[in-house]
Amino acid sequence: MTPRQIDPALVAEQRLADRLQAVDFATVRAAAAERPARLQHGGPCRWCAGRFGPVIDTTELVRGRSFLAVHALRGPDLVLKQVSSTRHRDDLDSVPPMDAIALFEALARAESFLASCGDPAWPEVVPGRRGHIAICKRRGARSHGTQTITLHRDPPPWLLRERAFMARHGVGRASWLETRGRAELLVGEFRGGLVAAVPAEPKRAFETVIWCRPGATGALADLSGNQRWGLAQAVRELTGALRLELSVRGLSESYGWRLVAGPGLEPHVRIVTPRATVVRDGPAEWVDRLRRHIGVE
Ligand SMILES: [Zn+2]
Repeated sequence: MTPRQIDPALVAEQRLADRLQAVDFATVRAAAAERPARLQHGGPCRWCAGRFGPVIDTTELVRGRSFLAVHALRGPDLVLKQVSSTRHRDDLDSVPPMDAIALFEALARAESFLASCGDPAWPEVVPGRRGHIAICKRRGARSHGTQTITLHRDPPPWLLRERAFMARHGVGRASWLETRGRAELLVGEFRGGLVAAVPAEPKRAFETVIWCRPGATGALADLSGNQRWGLAQAVRELTGALRLELSVRGLSESYGWRLVAGPGLEPHVRIVTPRATVVRDGPAEWVDRLRRHIGVE
């Protein structure tokens, strides 16, 4: 029978620390280096089967528990995984609202932990802060929900694209959408001044961008608690609405998102479906459908 949740004993077995404050970066790096960069698939769920790396942070949820695991060292990049919940079916798009906030607070802690690593293998980008941190999610139709947090040595492609956008337009994507976006493509407004809209020329089906109003700059940890609360709420509701809409249309319930944030950047989240997801209608219809699912009138 397929296990539908991660046995607490498996988490305890892999526990390196309960809180990030209790572990040092060198230990995490060494643990990552010991793990294969690409794990073999096989079996119904690798996470439920306990095939994850040392656990360095745990968060109690209303239902189940979330944890942060050391995943791998991929070339010069260190990868951590945030497991949304020990319960296989629960993810950021379906957990209770308070749990979504707890997950984002845990992501901010992981980001700060990596940024302050002090390890010369990662270049200092601003005083006291090393490397480039990526936070993203890829949700498969039936996969166990996780978020990936990567400490990159070199600027990753999404960062180069955002910098190119800023060089071309003089502002980040968030400011650009705030001033040039079309009002009718607004999907919703959330706590902390967070806003979500579909871009007028989306590159993928159901592409949606969430940003802070008024403008903010910096990393996830630099946002106010209220802004992170709003971001968690927006991501939870929008991805929940997207999943429902994909299911209604008989499409694969797969999507991904990426947080674009860091020194000098305007934090925003871009939600997309895979290239293979093709629909006949466009932004206006998507906004209408998503709004209906999140109950915005
Ligand atoms: Zn699972």
